[in-house]
Amino acid sequence: MSRPAVFLDRDGVLNQEAGYIHRLEDLHLIPGTAQAVRQLNEAGWFCCLASNQAGPARGYYPQSHVDALHDRLCRLLDQEAGAKLDALYYCPYLSGPEGGKDPEFTRYSTWRKPNTGMLVAAAWDWDLDLSRSVMVGDKATDIDLAKNAGCTGILVTTGFGEQVLAGNYQHATQPDFVAANLLEAVWWILRSPRSSQLPNGFERL
Ligand SMILES: [Mg+2]
Repeated sequence: MSRPAVFLDRDGVLNQEAGYIHRLEDLHLIPGTAQAVRQLNEAGWFCCLASNQAGPARGYYPQSHVDALHDRLCRLLDQEAGAKLDALYYCPYLSGPEGGKDPEFTRYSTWRKPNTGMLVAAAWDWDLDLSRSVMVGDKATDIDLAKNAGCTGILVTTGFGEQVLAGNYQHATQPDFVAANLLEAVWWILRSPRSSQLPNGFERL
């Protein structure tokens, strides 16, 4: 049977929002993040990164830099709490009108959030059930993605989340739950009925 997943936005959810991160050492986890991912791991949730990373398209840095950032992200998660991401998906593409410059990465992409490409690809690759999955993000476009893909959408107020709720960033949105941070989002997920269907779900915790 297909598994549900928790899809995790990166900037402002796992690591501190810091714009385009040009130096690896400027990627820092938000406190409690590693523990939150570890709790999902232990409960049997499939944890999947889903992140727009337009730096290569904007010509800021090569795609290898994004991969290096993700190596650091995974290392920090492991070091802090033995937490792991089961899969990582990101979209390096951006259309010309949106600011794409490097020809290799400048194009419209169905992977770019709020389009559903990354989640659909992950569902095919890992046999995931999107209708029972959760998307956690700090932007209205993350919640748009959740709705477009038929997932549950949680908005965290870290990153841009607070500004989204205040109406000062992007557009109004109606998440299924608003959490102060990823740890609180995971608290909510682990108490949701679908968690009890997992091998190591709610009843064990
Ligand atoms: Mg974000």
